[in-house]
Amino acid sequence: MKADRIFNFNAGPAALPLPVLETIQESFLNFAGSGMSITEISHRSKWFDDVINDAVARVKRILKLDDRYHVLFVQGGASMQFCMAPMNLLGAGDTADYVNTGTWSTKAIKEAEIQGKSIKVVASSEDRNFAYIPEGIAFTPDAVYAHITSNNTIKGTQWAGFPETGGAPLVADMSSDIFSRPLEMEKFGLIYAGAQKNMGPAGVCLVIIREDLLARTPKTIPTMLRYSTFAEKNSMYNTPPCFAVYTVQLVLKWLEETIGGLEKMAALNRQKAALLYDHMDQSDFYRGTADKGSRSLMNVTFRLPSEELEKAFVAEATENGLGGLKGHRSVGGCRASIYNPTPLAAVEALLDFMKTFERKNG
Ligand SMILES: *Cc1c(COP(=O)(O)O)cnc(C)c1O
Repeated sequence: MKADRIFNFNAGPAALPLPVLETIQESFLNFAGSGMSITEISHRSKWFDDVINDAVARVKRILKLDDRYHVLFVQGGASMQFCMAPMNLLGAGDTADYVNTGTWSTKAIKEAEIQGKSIKVVASSEDRNFAYIPEGIAFTPDAVYAHITSNNTIKGTQWAGFPETGGAPLVADMSSDIFSRPLEMEKFGLIYAGAQKNMGPAGVCLVIIREDLLARTPKTIPTMLRYSTFAEKNSMYNTPPCFAVYTVQLVLKWLEETIGGLEKMAALNRQKAALLYDHMDQSDFYRGTADKGSRSLMNVTFRLPSEELEKAFVAEATENGLGGLKGHRSVGGCRASIYNPTPLAAVEALLDFMKTFERKNG
């Protein structure tokens, strides 16, 4: 770690791999020998073509996508996808299923309802403040899609495996766990993920869409809200967020070449999360807020014996170079976001701090 940088546990925007930031710094004034910054070049240039094409190729390679899947870069964040997905995929007479597992699912449901789309909430874990992922869900056989939030950033839960829907393709908000583990792509018709948790800076949202769902895009909705517009123009119908796409490209390169791909990434993520959960499980001082079988490997949410202790914990951690540990106000307590870029050393430092704090205050 660089002397003046902290261990960053922010939920999003979140930590990026240090080598990626260094590459950006080194190349910032003169990108690829152009004599210009990546923020100054034309998106119609060969330089940017190379960036976006390489980013797309890496997404396809990392997730082993077959030719039916299109990779798009869209603005408006994951929140825009809450409205774009139903707008593009649900016509008159169509229906979709939604599973409500937290704050972001709730918002996705709301955006479909605002448009008057026919959707059905087939399961919810709201009865216990979204502390678990529902099981044994009865999906609607002829639904156009089934929407889930793969990782619940705020509540600290994650789908450990993905449900059998009986036919409907999954549409998944993967903003906070995309590229954290291999996926059985067969189950997915559409995946979207805002970049700023697990793969880049804010300003771009990755969309992966299968051709049968892409074909549903109606011509009667605004051009900029159609998936087909992005697919036909390689995400460059209008000016794309060049800097954000470039950073995503570098993070994916890091994932492939430095980490060694998704299997290795997943193993590292399991190792990091286990350090914290194993300690919590044998401690009376720290208490996880998510049910054991539903725990997120990305966002570890926990409480201390009192709110005063939680405040002191966050403050002392900050003094010790461990930032971003305050929990979301809807859950309270503490949250350690340990996305792909968070190094093992950061988690080890946090664990040491947790043990010391417990000894002094337990
Ligand atoms: C952060 C987050 C969002 C919102 O993303 P924006 O890019 O800010 O719109 C949506 N879903 C999940 C799961 C998130 O973690």
